[in-house]
Amino acid sequence: MMIIMKGGCSDAEVEAVIDKLHGIGAEAHLSRGEFKTIIGAIGDRELIVQIPWAALPGVEGVIPVMKPYKLVSREFHPEGTVVEVGDARIGGEAFTVIAGPCAVETEQQLLESAVAAKEAGATLLRGGAFKPRTSPYSFQGLGEEGLKLLVRARETTGLPVVTEVVDVRHVLLVSRYADVLQIGARNMQNFLLLSEVGMQQKPVMLKRGLSSTIEEMLMAAEYIVRGGNSNVILCERGIRTFETATRNTLDLSAVPLVKELSHLPIIVDPSHATGKREIIPALCKGALAVGADGVMIEIHPDPGAALCDGPQSLELDEFAGLMKEMKRVAPTLGRSL
Ligand code: PEP
Ligand code: MN
Repeated sequence: MMIIMKGGCSDAEVEAVIDKLHGIGAEAHLSRGEFKTIIGAIGDRELIVQIPWAALPGVEGVIPVMKPYKLVSREFHPEGTVVEVGDARIGGEAFTVIAGPCAVETEQQLLESAVAAKEAGATLLRGGAFKPRTSPYSFQGLGEEGLKLLVRARETTGLPVVTEVVDVRHVLLVSRYADVLQIGARNMQNFLLLSEVGMQQKPVMLKRGLSSTIEEMLMAAEYIVRGGNSNVILCERGIRTFETATRNTLDLSAVPLVKELSHLPIIVDPSHATGKREIIPALCKGALAVGADGVMIEIHPDPGAALCDGPQSLELDEFAGLMKEMKRVAPTLGRSL
């Protein structure tokens, strides 16, 4: 952290800041210029940030230069993390495709989707059993019955399943059935839930909050990793902007930025980002090009009859076509699919 002193600050004011730093065991690096005096604070960040520096006499302001997250940072762990789930490896050279319906509705709907996902080359199956819906009158998911259907789909196809846990009370229940615990956008800053999944043995997929910065997403991931679970997959799923032409605005720039800042793998969810099935193929190729570790795509045997997110769900043959296209493009970018 840099503490910037006011133009005409006194020596005593500078000394007082330095004494305070020494008092918490931090070092002070003083740089006194003609117009500006800057004190660099080096030490335990947790202790340094607790002092209200800007309130001290003679201090103009502070500039934080230390990253507030540690365990998920690239500095801490220069090698990229690869999360292994069954035969799938998320991170590294492979580009992972997760596909499935928004919500588990019926056995037939789920199995048809799962078989199509597998045949086209997806390596994980998605499907919500507990759905976080904006309206309390919308379909909320089948609950445990949906989890059981996911297990049946896994037995049929061999695909590991990703499903959302919406509440801290459901963590153990969902962990009994799921291969990957999904934390949805609406819960990205549910810190108790993050800590709870951080204590589980199952990998976690953490979706970016609707209005969250990249730093806030990495701080949320830090909660999970701090609990002992370092198998975290980040997911860029679009953020709220002024634009209404799409459901959210897909922030593809988050992918290379996260790659620079963190060792965790990051995938892209163009379905929730756009809400529009027509533009999903283009954005999947965009995700490949910017270096994402994979995509998560919603598919449905009959999107017109879907109980949730039909307009953004690809038909099963559309998905197969998209997979062919991605398999053609991936090697040109040094990726395998
Ligand atoms: C989902 O993936 O099922 C979902 C609800 O997405 P999000 O949390 O990104 O809105
Ligand atoms: Mn959905």
